[in-house]
Amino acid sequence: MQVIGLRDPGEGDWTRLRTLQYSELFQVSIIRLAGHALAGALAASLFVGVVNKWILLGWLVAVVLATINVRRVDLSFIDIERRGVQRSDFKRQAQAYGWCTLPWVVALLFFVPFAAPSTHYALWAIAAMLIAGSAVTMTSAPIATVVSDLVIGTAGVVSFLVAGDFGFAVGSAAFVAVILVGALRSARTYLSARIAEAGVAEKDEVVSLLLREFEEKESDWLWQVDTNRRIRSASPRFAFALGAAPETVEGESFIKLIAGGSWDSGKFPASLHELAEKLKRREHFSNLLVHVELAAGRRWWELSGTPMRDDKGNYIGFRGVGSDVTEQRDRDEKIAYLARYDTLTGLPNRLMLTEALGEAMRFADQWKSRCAFLMIDLDRFKAVNDSLGHQIGDRLLAKVSKRLMGVLTENEQCGRLGGDEFAVVMRDASERGRVERLADAIIDALSQPYQVDNHTLFIGASVGSAIGPRDGSSVEMLMRNADLALYRAKDEGGNEHFSYVPSMHADAEERRKLESALRHAIGNRELELNFQPVVNAKSETVVSFEALLRWNSEEHGFVSPGKFIPLAEDTRLIVPIGEWVLHEACREATRWPDDIKVAVNVSGEQLLEPNFSASVVRALADTGLPAHRLEVEVTESVFLRDGRTARQTLEEIMALGCSIALDDFGTGYSSLGYLRTLRFSTIKVDRSFVQGASQGNAESLAIIRAVVAMARSLEMSTTAEGVEDAEQAALIRELGCSKIQGFYFGRPMAALEARSLVVKGRSRAA
Ligand code: C2E
Ligand code: MG
Ligand code: MG
Repeated sequence: MQVIGLRDPGEGDWTRLRTLQYSELFQVSIIRLAGHALAGALAASLFVGVVNKWILLGWLVAVVLATINVRRVDLSFIDIERRGVQRSDFKRQAQAYGWCTLPWVVALLFFVPFAAPSTHYALWAIAAMLIAGSAVTMTSAPIATVVSDLVIGTAGVVSFLVAGDFGFAVGSAAFVAVILVGALRSARTYLSARIAEAGVAEKDEVVSLLLREFEEKESDWLWQVDTNRRIRSASPRFAFALGAAPETVEGESFIKLIAGGSWDSGKFPASLHELAEKLKRREHFSNLLVHVELAAGRRWWELSGTPMRDDKGNYIGFRGVGSDVTEQRDRDEKIAYLARYDTLTGLPNRLMLTEALGEAMRFADQWKSRCAFLMIDLDRFKAVNDSLGHQIGDRLLAKVSKRLMGVLTENEQCGRLGGDEFAVVMRDASERGRVERLADAIIDALSQPYQVDNHTLFIGASVGSAIGPRDGSSVEMLMRNADLALYRAKDEGGNEHFSYVPSMHADAEERRKLESALRHAIGNRELELNFQPVVNAKSETVVSFEALLRWNSEEHGFVSPGKFIPLAEDTRLIVPIGEWVLHEACREATRWPDDIKVAVNVSGEQLLEPNFSASVVRALADTGLPAHRLEVEVTESVFLRDGRTARQTLEEIMALGCSIALDDFGTGYSSLGYLRTLRFSTIKVDRSFVQGASQGNAESLAIIRAVVAMARSLEMSTTAEGVEDAEQAALIRELGCSKIQGFYFGRPMAALEARSLVVKGRSRAA
């Protein structure tokens, strides 16, 4: 039923199946029609003289008309593939064939009774030919076969029954049944053949579509070689990849073309060798990375290939796809390089050093030896970077790395951890004193002056080292302990080497505890301000107080500012603490006579805060202190890190009406140039010069004189710090400093004491 179209297929599409069947119908129907016409003429000739000639003529006309009608319907199926068979087409076609059978029914049932039995058999022979003929030719329209064979066959059987020839009736019925079964079988075979054909065609189309798309992709191509590994059917794209025209590469040896110079020498790159082997052994391969050498240069190809076989299974060559992955590979290599090397110095980076250290530790473990990790930090590098710019800083780092490599032997590997931090992994550190010798050599080499762009630069190096596995059983522990040793070296002033000792851990732990206590110092009201008077050098009257922070920790007792201020700066806790100091100092100053200023120390860290000047405005507004009574003390170091921002912030504060003092002048970076960068109101000469001068140190004396002279010319005042006795006070006065601060005139004191000092002083003066 499904084959003849009377039932819908379980799966698939009725229209599609019928279309596959009927698409060839119009080609075979002409043969069948010719057969019909011939059979009609033959049958008519049998009845000439038996049936009335007009009736016979009418019958013949009916045969011809019905045949023409069928042909008309069949021809309408010409474009059936495009539009698809509809149920109406199907019905029309079946009906047309039905009509075609009627004249034969008439002949068998109504002409035969008038004729001789031999005519009956002759007519049945013609009808049987028609039945067999349609079964053979009409596989593409089985419904027509079924209808016509069934109708004509039944008429034949009935005619034999009427004639009383039962044997022939049964024989004919059996014949028709066999024909019908055969017809249905071949129709089914035809249909499945058509379905398979259509499937193949569709697949072909998909394959060619995919291939076209594949070839259109930028870098992919198809390649093919024969049994001698010579290129066959080279596609234009493949030829292009080879850098030649398709005709010139056709028939050339594939390996020779891509081997370049190595063909003659016979020394193939490993990847090419592998490809040749695979081809020789007829092995399938995929994504084989091959280093090829073409006229255009060396490239990386990614090739896949499968051996081809013909129908009989004979090997006939290779076919595959390929693409040029040179760019991608270069990129991958670059990424891999960047992941392991520092671009600035070309040294291994932290990742690679960590791996090297892990390797060294495994080695030490295996041979029961020792390895070492040295961490190196450059001293004063920041100052160079900040004052001369990053470009000079970068070039300096490159020179440092060269010198560092010059000191090392094969036993050591160095790298850059980042910034101005370097490190060395020593594989075998079993020999006594080896680490110390290397550390000293590194410090010595790195501390020699550098020549960069007409600048002679002096920097130093601090080194911290840890020995594995003694000082740490894991890479992390060893690195952390070397870092602790480095911290100690820096803390001690730099240009030194420290080896790790377990007590450093305790120090670090102490520091961590101190830090957490400092975090809560404001909230716990552990902070307090002391005030130290600054007096006029001539009149010795108090002109200002410097606010100095004190921390009386519940946990750690009294902690000196020299210890907790750097800690607060490191952890940026100085920002909230500094804000508190500013508020407290301004509030206290409002209780003093109007002509007495308050000086507040401000760290570089605070100046770099984007809203520092806003917090100054807030402190002044909250307390009602006039801006001219606030002096901000900064040290030269604030200009080192980000000089521009610091200067800008200070200028904003000056614009408010506050004054700026340059604290601890002469220590550290000491450059008179700083004096010109900003309109400081006061230069505070460091205590060390006062002490030096009082001990008759000529250099100290000269410096104080120079500073005083320079300050005068720039209309700045000078304050001498750390004056401890009358002698020193006299000396300072003689040297021309305008103000004096020191224990001789008053130690840092509690707020109340300071208040009573000025108020009492005033009342005495009055
Ligand atoms: P500084 O600003 O140079 O303060 C002067 C330091 O010298 C004070 O030390 C003071 O006690 C000490 N001093 C004053 N006169 C004499 C003297 O005659 N002889 C001796 N031997 N010393 C004298 P202090 O209070 O220990 O402060 C140390 C440093 O801590 C200060 O140096 C300042 O840089 C910093 N500091 C203090 N308070 C603050 C603050 O609130 N914020 C910031 N950022 N830093 C602060
Ligand atoms: Mg100060
Ligand atoms: Mg000072």
